[in-house]
Amino acid sequence: MSKSKTKEVDLFVIGGGINGCGIARDAVGRGLSVTLAEMNDIGGATSSSSTKLFHGGLRYLEYFEFRLVRESLIEREVLLRMMPHISWPMRFVLPLSSEMRFENSTPTSRLLNVLMPWAKGKRPAWLIRLGLFLYDNLGGRKILPGTASISLGKDLAGNALKKKFKKAFEYSDCWIEDNKLVSLNALDAKNRGAKILTRTKVIEAKRIEDFWKIIVENQLTHEVEEHHAKVLINAAGPWVADIINTKLQLNSKDNTRLVRGSHIVVPKLYDHDKCYFFQGTDGRIIFSIPYEYEFTLIGTTDADHDGIETKPTCSEAERDYLINFASQYFAKEVTPKDVVWSYSGVRPLYDDGTENAVAATRDYVLKLEHSAGSAPLLNIFGGKITTYRKLAEAAILEIAKFFPDLKGSWTANSSLPGGDFPVQDVAKLIKKLQSDFNFLTEIRAKRLFRAYGLNAWELLKGASKLEDLGEQFGEFLTQREVEYLRKNEFAMEADDIIWRRTKLGLKMSAHDKKRLSEYLKIS
Ligand code: FAD
Repeated sequence: MSKSKTKEVDLFVIGGGINGCGIARDAVGRGLSVTLAEMNDIGGATSSSSTKLFHGGLRYLEYFEFRLVRESLIEREVLLRMMPHISWPMRFVLPLSSEMRFENSTPTSRLLNVLMPWAKGKRPAWLIRLGLFLYDNLGGRKILPGTASISLGKDLAGNALKKKFKKAFEYSDCWIEDNKLVSLNALDAKNRGAKILTRTKVIEAKRIEDFWKIIVENQLTHEVEEHHAKVLINAAGPWVADIINTKLQLNSKDNTRLVRGSHIVVPKLYDHDKCYFFQGTDGRIIFSIPYEYEFTLIGTTDADHDGIETKPTCSEAERDYLINFASQYFAKEVTPKDVVWSYSGVRPLYDDGTENAVAATRDYVLKLEHSAGSAPLLNIFGGKITTYRKLAEAAILEIAKFFPDLKGSWTANSSLPGGDFPVQDVAKLIKKLQSDFNFLTEIRAKRLFRAYGLNAWELLKGASKLEDLGEQFGEFLTQREVEYLRKNEFAMEADDIIWRRTKLGLKMSAHDKKRLSEYLKIS
């Protein structure tokens, strides 16, 4: 254990998931000095295990979560403009079926059971259309196309489905590369002056009158450092309560509800670029989404999770649930043998006392703890990837009274690194990248542009042939890209690169993965 050094800042953020990094970026842009500590890889927990959608959350309308849905719908286009490289519009096909039921506990289903007992808990088509009408109109849509009715006999989307599905609605939401969202927020925060410490665990924090004394431990070197801050924000996601109880040694009546969600990845089930929104006979819904060009992503489940000590993994029961659910719709059965990868995350939901995991609120809750003369603490509960920017603004608003010179909100009209171009220019820019670096195939140019946007030119600078990019680790992962990710996006270990900043792990051979690990250890 090395001698500790003291560093003083306005704001110290615990947790480098999307909420912590979004807050750090917003705060530093308003003139605060900021340090953020993340105990593992940036965005390595919940924020890289999501369904990866900027969405309003159609199903939350059944829970009357209008505030959350409206805020999320408005945010979709704000975020799409901020990062048109790592986010893009998607069409979702919702096949209609008379067999599909409501989740019993939704306020809407309870109301309809009283008003229309003959419907026996089924979700009628007119109700879905009404939900989609609200979805189209609550959130001031300008870029994304609205809802349409489609005939599955005539649309490409019908080919992959069982013939009994004749009609569907089609609506819009957006895809987001969730882990890149976190690393680019962290990079932008760093570029603006924030200190981002990864593999750095907060092991203790204490109020010393009007400031916080925070002790962190580097998880690689075990070096311990002391930091001082005027305000502490606890954005530790599923660990938020653990931070309060064990690292801060405070009592709090607020708690999280840990709800695990798993996804499976299978070789692609269809050739078009639309997603499906499937309703189950149990009232739940799942998505099927084109993934990494050659795969289909299916998820998610909702299961109460034991505790943060247990690493979330997709259980056999969850895998089978997803397979059986999808097989009710797809013409060709999905089997356990098809599953090439799975991942799980834990939703850190605010515990609002609901009985059912599916029904627990997805909205965020901010709790400020402060009394005169004592340093403030802000605990963040819940939230969605889609609302991270609004959550950051709300968090800064909570602490604004402690910083009279704080600048106004600014992130709505900003761009994340590499994303400063109009949404409609994506195809044109991919073509330009390919013609500027003519050794790139279309698919490689597309992957690099989607990952780095305008910064792809910096990454490839000076290269006129593949060999100029250094060692190859398979699947066009080059030494140049690996070094770029190390320098700019906080990557340290092979998994950071092949399972989070990229998903090349899906295709790379075991030999290439090992070579990459060895390269990272010795260079
Ligand atoms: P996290 O990403 O978990 O970050 C918290 C961080 O704190 C972690 O990285 C952890 O390592 C760190 N930490 C903990 N303790 C310490 C410590 N002592 N010292 C230092 N660091 C510490 N939202 C959407 O908008 N769209 C979706 O499609 C979507 N799908 C989802 C699907 C699933 C299965 C799940 C689980 C969630 C989904 N969400 C979605 C919600 C969204 O992913 C989460 O709300 C969001 O990622 C939470 O981010 P966070 O920063 O709060 O938590």
